[in-house]
Amino acid sequence: MLLEGKGIADRIMLELSSAARDMEEKSGSRPRLDLILVGDDQGARIYSQAKMKRGKKIGCDVTLTELPEDSSMKEVSSIIGEKSLDPDIHGIMIENPVPKNLSISELADLIPYYKDVDGTGSMNQGLIVSKKEFLVPATPAAVVEILTTFGINGTVTIVNRSPVVGRPLAGMLLNRDYTVTVCHSKTPDLKKYTISSDIIVTAVGHASYFDASYFSPESTVIDVGINYVDDKVVGDVKFDDVSKQVKNITPVPGGVGPITATLIFRNLITSFRYQFSKRQ
Ligand code: NAP
Repeated sequence: MLLEGKGIADRIMLELSSAARDMEEKSGSRPRLDLILVGDDQGARIYSQAKMKRGKKIGCDVTLTELPEDSSMKEVSSIIGEKSLDPDIHGIMIENPVPKNLSISELADLIPYYKDVDGTGSMNQGLIVSKKEFLVPATPAAVVEILTTFGINGTVTIVNRSPVVGRPLAGMLLNRDYTVTVCHSKTPDLKKYTISSDIIVTAVGHASYFDASYFSPESTVIDVGINYVDDKVVGDVKFDDVSKQVKNITPVPGGVGPITATLIFRNLITSFRYQFSKRQ
C-alpha cells in the first residue's frame, strides 16, 4: 500500500483551522509564529515561505525576521531574548540551516520551552524521554501520525540518530509501546537490522541509498529523506524497485513532508493555549 501524507495533512489542517478559530474567539487574538531566518540559504527561505502560506490557511499569523549571514551568536541570542519576552509572539522557530558560525542547538535552548514550536530545545527533548511530551519535533510526529492512522504496529528500525529525527522518534515510539532499534553511520551490518524489522524509517539524506535488498516483503518503509537530484526531490529509498517488493511504503514527495509542514502549527496552537491559560 502507498502511504500518502496528503489526506492526513488535510485532516490535520481542518482540525487546526477549527482550533485556531476557537482560540481566536476565546482570546481575541490569533496564534503568532515568528520565524528567524539567518543568512541566504535558499532551502531555508523556501521552507519559511511555505510556512507563511500554510499558517495563513489555518488562521495563524506568521512573521519573518531576517538577519544577515554574518550575524554573531550574541546578536541572534539578543533577538531571541526580545521575542521570548513578547507576549504577542507565541512560537519562535529558527530556520535550518544557519550559517556555520552559529549553533542552532544552542540558539534553540534560548527559546522558552513553551514557545519552542520546533521541539528541538533540550527541555522539549527531555520531556519526550520523561514520557511527558509537550512540543514534539514535527518530523517524528509525522511518522507517528502515519503509523497510527494506518494502524501499523511492530518492531521498528530507525536509520538516523539526529536530534530532529531519530532521537525524538525513538522516544515517541517507545512511549507508544513500539520496540525500537536506532542505527547510524557507524552501525555494522545495517541490513541485518532493516531486513528483520516490521517498520523501517530511513533518514540518512543520501538519494536512493536503500535498494530492495534492505527490506522483506512484510516491510513497512517510511522514507523521511529529502534529497535533490537534477532539481527533483527524491527520498533515501529506490522507490521504483522497493515499492514493488514491500508491504507498505511512503512516497517522496507526498509522504512524510506534507504532514511535517502542518504539524508545526499543531505545536503553535498548543503553545498559544498554554500561554493563554497562564494569563487567565
Ligand atoms: P543528519 O543530521 O545529517 O542525520 C543523518 C543521520 O543518518 C545520522 O544519524 C547519520 O549517522 C545517519 N547516516 C548517514 N549516512 C548513513 C549510512 N550510510 N548508513 C547509516 N546511517 C547513516 O540529517 P537530519 O537533519 O536528521 O535529516 C536526515 C534526512 O531527513 C535529510 O534527507 C533531511 O532532508 C530529511 N528531513 C526530512 C524532513 C521531512 O519533513 N520529510 C524533515 C527533516 C529532515 P551519524 O549520526 O553516525 O552521522
